[in-house]
Amino acid sequence: MPNDALARARALDEADPLGAYLHRFLTPEGSDLVAYFDGNSLGRPLARTADALDRFVRVEWGGRLIRGWDERWMDLPLTLGDRLGSVALGAAPGQTFVGDSTTVLLYKLARAAVDEQLVRGRDEIVLDVDNFPTDRYVLEGIAAERGARLVWVEPSPVDGVTREQIAERVGPRTALAVFSHVAYRSGWRADVPGITAAVHEVGGLVLWDLCHSGGAVPVALDEWDVDLAVGCTYKYLNGGPGSPAYAYVATRHHGVLQQPVWGWLGRQDAFAMAPGYVAAPGIRSFVSGTPPVLAMVPLEAYLELLAEAGVDAVRAKSLALTDFALSVIDARLAPLGVEVVSPRDHAHRGGHISIRRPGFREVTRRLWRQGVIPDYREPDSIRIGLAPLSTSFAEVARGLAALEAQLR
Ligand SMILES: *Cc1c(COP(=O)(O)O)cnc(C)c1O
Repeated sequence: MPNDALARARALDEADPLGAYLHRFLTPEGSDLVAYFDGNSLGRPLARTADALDRFVRVEWGGRLIRGWDERWMDLPLTLGDRLGSVALGAAPGQTFVGDSTTVLLYKLARAAVDEQLVRGRDEIVLDVDNFPTDRYVLEGIAAERGARLVWVEPSPVDGVTREQIAERVGPRTALAVFSHVAYRSGWRADVPGITAAVHEVGGLVLWDLCHSGGAVPVALDEWDVDLAVGCTYKYLNGGPGSPAYAYVATRHHGVLQQPVWGWLGRQDAFAMAPGYVAAPGIRSFVSGTPPVLAMVPLEAYLELLAEAGVDAVRAKSLALTDFALSVIDARLAPLGVEVVSPRDHAHRGGHISIRRPGFREVTRRLWRQGVIPDYREPDSIRIGLAPLSTSFAEVARGLAALEAQLR
């Protein structure tokens, strides 16, 4: 084929103000990578991250030993949380911490909110059928455990939840509503301030899952009046496989909401080792046990880069990358039976797009063998997740050309 797409991609790369960042990512010698379309699922490592991990082991862990806890590590969940809040979440200090996994933090925050609301006779949890499986399962568990009722919203599979839809499903019994800012399948970007306001109007609380937006799509938790949020750091925040999650609890809920995992490091004056649990003040009360310090090192390194580039510039490139991908898909793949199952307007687009065609499972397997790496999601869809700082337009053109070749 081809390939006027490649020529166009090269011109876009030439003019890309973030182009210099591409070289900060680590590509091992002899790597077979042709195109990485999975930055929405597992971000790539920075070259600097390898050095930071090495330095951490040799200097901080090896050199400071247990003194490291007093010197820096014990506060790292909160200091790194503040940094993340300021760089990527629009959260003032003292409301964000890093630790646990998204699944565990969802449980801790949602349980805290539901417990508080049940006291006022509010026993409904509103969620949507397209929310990520772990979110749905955790909420089912809380409903079973606490005698609450799940109220399911059914958005269109190509789109996602809207303010109008949510306004219809909430009411005087709403305890908590839980949605994803960007839907993991369609990539639909929800109207966070609008939906949050609709739930607040009836007295409910809202928990937003930011897994598919944090680091790629601007977030303004304080400005949007969000109550609670969780997200992971291994997707667009490049923290590495299994890196810890983060949680945000707005200041007005501190000392009111009580999370259910009463560990020693969420206790007031933890090192007094005293009898009886008394929650620590502030966001610290949402911490449970020893923080995964080693696993926070890559996130620390990545936040420096993201702060330098700026989330707004990252978002601008994200839209340009997905615009470019859509133009190639429309021109080259649509005639071969490929359907776009993601929103096309910028206002509702997240950082990835999904396309669909029968047989994509096997196609994905073949692409992986050639170093073209999207991911496959049931039913029949391939997600094209384009992490803006590590992905070039030429990479998009090459990857989509390989996909086209599979379909001819
Ligand atoms: C990736 C993702 C998760 C992952 O949760 P883990 O506890 O890290 O496995 C949760 N929710 C959403 C929306 C996700 O995209």
